[in-house]
Amino acid sequence: MSIDKTELYDLVIIGAGAAGMMAAIAAAEGGIKVLILEKLPKIATKLKATGGGKCNISNTLANEAFMEAFGREGRFMQYALESLDQQALRDFFATLGIETDVLDGLRIFPVGHQSQSIIGALANEISRLGVVIHCNSKIMKTVYTDKNFNVYTNKEVYQTPKLIIATGGKGYPQLGAEGDGYKLAASLGHSFHMPHPAMMPLKVAEQWVNHCCADTIAKARIIVDIKKYKNYRAVGDLIFTKGGIRGPVVLDFSREITPLLAKLKEVPILINITKGMSEEEIRTHIKSKLSDSKHYNTLQLVETLLPSSISQVICTMANINPALGFAKQSGVSRAKLIKLLAWTPLTIIGHDGFDKAMITRGGIKLKEINSRTMESKLVEGLYFCGEVVDLDGPCGGYNLQWAFSSGYLAGSSTLSKI
Ligand SMILES: Cc1cc2nc3c(=O)[nH]c(=O)nc-3n(C[C@H](O)[C@H](O)[C@H](O)COP(=O)(O)OP(=O)(O)OC[C@H]3O[C@@H](n4cnc5c(N)ncnc54)[C@H](O)[C@@H]3O)c2cc1C
Repeated sequence: MSIDKTELYDLVIIGAGAAGMMAAIAAAEGGIKVLILEKLPKIATKLKATGGGKCNISNTLANEAFMEAFGREGRFMQYALESLDQQALRDFFATLGIETDVLDGLRIFPVGHQSQSIIGALANEISRLGVVIHCNSKIMKTVYTDKNFNVYTNKEVYQTPKLIIATGGKGYPQLGAEGDGYKLAASLGHSFHMPHPAMMPLKVAEQWVNHCCADTIAKARIIVDIKKYKNYRAVGDLIFTKGGIRGPVVLDFSREITPLLAKLKEVPILINITKGMSEEEIRTHIKSKLSDSKHYNTLQLVETLLPSSISQVICTMANINPALGFAKQSGVSRAKLIKLLAWTPLTIIGHDGFDKAMITRGGIKLKEINSRTMESKLVEGLYFCGEVVDLDGPCGGYNLQWAFSSGYLAGSSTLSKI
C-alpha cells in the first residue's frame, strides 16, 4: 500500500452507527478535531432499519432494571448509563428538536416513529460541531506506535492519539457491521468472546408447525428442556412459521439458544402456549367450560384456549379423537392433552445465521475495558463502544440505548486526556 498523505486528528472513530455518532458528538462538544470513518456510502445505515424503520431508541426502565435485563454482565454499563440514561437521551434529542413518545408505557420512539428523524438530528449536530465524516472508507488495519494510531483505509492513512472502535457486531452484514472490529481490536492485542448470531427466528425439527403458520400465540413461555439450562427462559408473543418459530419471544430466546446450539447441535425446548396456565389451571378451565356446556367436543374445548389449527395439531399429538367429548377420551390421552397444553415440546435445530441476526452475542471482552471510561485496559487511547463490546440486551430499545450511552461515555472520556 503506497500512501503519501497522512491526516492528523485528535480523535478518529471507526463506524458511523448509533455508538460512533454519539461518541463523535460527545467528543466534539469538547472542541477537539474529530473524524468518523464509515465504510458504507451513508452514515447510520443500521439505525435507519431499527424497529422496522420506527427506531425504538430506548425504554423507560430505571437503570437498575435496565442493567438486569442484560444478565450477569449488565452492571458493566453502570457508568455509561450514568453518563447518558434514557431520560438524558430523550432530553438530548429534545434539544435537537426531536421529541419522543412512549405509547405502550415502555418503548421509546421518536414522535412520528421515523428513524430518519433521529438520523437527521444526529447528522445536523455532527455537522454543527464540525466533525468530519468520510464515508466509503473501510478501515483495513490500525497500527499503534509511539502513543499514536495509524489508521489505514485502502487509499489514506490517518494519525491520531485517540481511537474509538464503534464498528458494531456481525449481524445483518448488509447494514455494515461484519465483525471487522474484532479483527482490528485483536491486532491491537485485545481478545473477544466468539460472536454468535442472536435475535432471529429459529428452525425446529417438528413438521407440525407447518400446519400452524401465521398463528400468533400471545404471552408464550419458552424454556430449555435440559436440566442444566432450565434457567434459559423467555416470555412474549410467538408466531409459528414454515419450519420454525419467530416473534418477540423467539428473538429474545435466540440470544441464549445460538451459543448452546453451536455446542449441542440441537436444543429441546418446551413452550407454554396457554398464557402460562399450569396443568392444574388447564384442568380447572376444562371443567368450568364443561359445566357451561356439556356439548363441547374435545377440539372445541381446546379451541377455547388456542387457535383452531394448533388445537387440531395438539389433539393429534395427544391421540385424541377431536370429535368426541372429553369424557369419552382415554385417561392416558386426556392426561397427555393437558400436559401438551401446559408444555409443548419442540426441538431447535438451526437458524439463518448472521444474515438475519439483529444483534450479536459475544464481542470484545469486558474485562479488557475500563467501564468508567470505555477505554482499553491494554492500549492507552483506545476506546470501544456499542455492539462491538461483549454485551447484548433483549428486544425493546435496550441495544440502542447501550450504543448511545457507551458512545457518549467513550467520546467524553477521550477529552479528559487531551
Ligand atoms: C433490523 C434491525 C432492527 C433493530 N431494531 C432495534 C431497535 O428498534 N431498538 C434497539 O435498541 N436495537 C435495535 N437493533 C439493534 C441495534 O440496531 C444495534 O445494536 C445498534 O445499532 C448497534 O449500534 P453500533 O453503533 O454499535 O453498531 P452499528 O449500527 O452496526 O454501526 C457500526 C458502523 O461501523 C461501520 N463499520 C464496520 N466496520 C467498519 C470498518 N472496517 N471501517 C469503517 N466502518 C466500519 C458499519 O458500516 C456501521 O455503519 C436492531 C438491529 C437490526 C439489524
